[in-house]
Amino acid sequence: MTEQQPYLGFGIKKIPKILPVLPLFDATLFPKMVVPIVVAQKESIQLVDEAMSKNRIIGLLVSKEPTIKKTYKSEDLYTVGTSALILKMAKTEDNKAQLLVQGLGRFKVKNFVKTKPYLQARMEHIVDKEEEKDKETEALISNITSLFARIVELSPGLPQEIGVMTKSIHEPGTLADMIASIINCKLEEKQKVLEVFDIKNRLKEVNRLVNYQLEILELGNKIQSQVKGGMDKQQREYYLGQQMKVIKEELGEKDETTVEIEEYRAKVKSKNLPEEAAKEVEREINRLSRMHPSSAEYTVASTYIDWLTILPWNDSTKDRLNIKSARKILDKDHFGLMKVKKRVIEYLAVRKLKPDSKGPILCLVGPPGTGKTSMGRSIARALGRKFVRISLGGVRDEAEIRGHRRTYVGALPGRIIQGIRRAESNNPVFMLDEIDKVGSDFRGDPSSALLEVLDPEQNFSFSDHYLDVAFDLSRVIFITTANILDTIPPALRDRMEILELLGYAQDEKVKIANRFLVPRQREAHGLKAAWISFTNGALRHIISGYTREAGLRNLEREIASICRGVATKIAEGSAKSAVINVKNIAEFLGPIRFISEASERTLTPGVAMGLAWTQTGGELLFIEATSMKGKNNLTLTGQLGDVMKESAIAALSFIRSNITLLGIDENFFAKHDIHIHVPAGAIPKDGPSAGVTMLTALTSLLTNKTIKEDLAMTGEITLRGQVLPVGGVKEKVLTAHRAGIKTIIMPKWNEKDLEDIPKKVKSEIHFHFVDKMMDVLEIALPLKLYT
Ligand code: ADP
Repeated sequence: MTEQQPYLGFGIKKIPKILPVLPLFDATLFPKMVVPIVVAQKESIQLVDEAMSKNRIIGLLVSKEPTIKKTYKSEDLYTVGTSALILKMAKTEDNKAQLLVQGLGRFKVKNFVKTKPYLQARMEHIVDKEEEKDKETEALISNITSLFARIVELSPGLPQEIGVMTKSIHEPGTLADMIASIINCKLEEKQKVLEVFDIKNRLKEVNRLVNYQLEILELGNKIQSQVKGGMDKQQREYYLGQQMKVIKEELGEKDETTVEIEEYRAKVKSKNLPEEAAKEVEREINRLSRMHPSSAEYTVASTYIDWLTILPWNDSTKDRLNIKSARKILDKDHFGLMKVKKRVIEYLAVRKLKPDSKGPILCLVGPPGTGKTSMGRSIARALGRKFVRISLGGVRDEAEIRGHRRTYVGALPGRIIQGIRRAESNNPVFMLDEIDKVGSDFRGDPSSALLEVLDPEQNFSFSDHYLDVAFDLSRVIFITTANILDTIPPALRDRMEILELLGYAQDEKVKIANRFLVPRQREAHGLKAAWISFTNGALRHIISGYTREAGLRNLEREIASICRGVATKIAEGSAKSAVINVKNIAEFLGPIRFISEASERTLTPGVAMGLAWTQTGGELLFIEATSMKGKNNLTLTGQLGDVMKESAIAALSFIRSNITLLGIDENFFAKHDIHIHVPAGAIPKDGPSAGVTMLTALTSLLTNKTIKEDLAMTGEITLRGQVLPVGGVKEKVLTAHRAGIKTIIMPKWNEKDLEDIPKKVKSEIHFHFVDKMMDVLEIALPLKLYT
């Protein structure tokens, strides 16, 4: 190998074995390549001068550290380098030498022979072996050239012709050297290529470098284009927007956004918003003027401004505080409901004498269809205020009351503020329906927000999360409604004054139907008074045969359905008018739906009729007991709650402890099992008030005596034989009356609760007030006590 000489041209015959070494710190020279070098050190300039005066051949070695040093020692330099011919040399004014050097070949330092004045070393010159290209080499070459072509494409600094040039180089070693010398990589990497003498390995090394380089370039390119794309779109839109503005101004037209913003400003002025709200709106309008109208943020901001400007901050209606006319309106709208009307009139009277008084929050409690909502509406009418209503049924999230913060996507104010917006006044009558059905879960407790709404001490600055500006609710009259009291959170219940609306007795319903429901439905269906009329018998028949309710909803629905039928007939021309009576009802409503089964069901021993109190008013509750051969087991079915089950056990224990007195066989329980069932089996039931009914059903079974006809009962029992008071007495009595019950047994303690029940109802039912369980049995059964 030593005999061989590297690339020789330029009249060079031979490269000497000992060469002066010029250290390089910021460039590498590959064989056959040309690079410019600047030399500044004194010793190096001397080296160059002397070389120029001889054969102009020098050795170049790269420094391991990429920093310039005053003097380089042999350890500072790599040991593989390039022999080079100085093509040109020029001295500059500041005593530097500018060289243009041509690489000749690789060498490896054998040993340094001199260090002063400059390094000189004995070299072993290395020449690329000429070999047949195998497939791998071919593949490497083609890969490198095509990747390199791509690098050239992506690097604006490289002339495009270089890519073509590489294709014309046939020696693979030279190709690798050339590409390594061009691409942008660290000196160490280039040095590595220089040190690979085997051509295939050199190609592999270069292939790796080229790959890496391309990856970096492509990534850079991608980032660049993304940034540029984003910038371009925004800039373009902004630019076009500005142009449009200028063009419109030139034409004397106003830009849409400017118009909108001016409109907003005018609106704020005309609205006379409270200071805090005005500030917030102004801030938002300023933000808006800097936004692009098609951006999502613009919509969010303008919706917010809309909300703030549209709310009735200062708009209120004037109260009509004429007690006489208020009373007239309330009476005109509703039959009965004396207590509620009286309370409303008192409320108005106080308002009249002390306009800033903070009245209590009324809570109307009663079964569906008893006129709670329409009462609210009527109160608003009497006062000359607007009426809004929201339903709280199933509300579990505090945000439904208080709204979502604006940072939420699609955020809106809560239901209270939405209601105020609908009312278009800041002092409406605001009805919160179904306050007994507010739930709470992980999303927060809506009742705490409601507490704030309903508290006169706090609600003058109600904070809605969306608005972020306090709204004064202190002038609003809140009325709440509920079906039952038990499920209203106690803290809320404390804030309110409860007014109970009972269910209606049949006669009351007939009156209400005649006076209110029929005329309203008649009008709603375009019928004149002469075209349709209902006999009282017909109304009674609808109430008992087609509805089973405490309120009036279904009754009104059935009347509507008849009106529709009559309207169809008249429109068809098949009738001119219709009188609805008991006989022709089925023609409109179909066969009768509810039969009074009460008396039939209690015909056998072991069945007793109780009275239950539910959300929809009262209900009849049948309790069935039966016995079979067995070993003193008790089975309870019909989805009974714990309290009801315990009542059954207590009743049984009472009977067993009085077994002789009641004349029951001593051995009966040892040989029998007992089963108590409460239909309808699918509806969960609970509460202690079925105690007396359980007791009566069991005694009836065990003594084999039927209970008296048309008799119902309610009352809690104790093991000592006492009957304790129960709730919902009024509803229970009215239900019993509707079902045609003639006798009711109830706890003595509940006698006072009958006060509100219509006289007619009371006169049609025979009441037994008891405090002892034995009395219940004696009244209900033809009981003979064995003392
Ligand atoms: P609630 O809100 O209690 O469920 P609604 O107010 O919806 O009941 O009443 C149902 C219907 O019955 C309404 O059309 C209402 O006008 C009517 N109504 C209820 N009570 C009376 C009453 N005392 N006098 C006249 N109409 C009544």
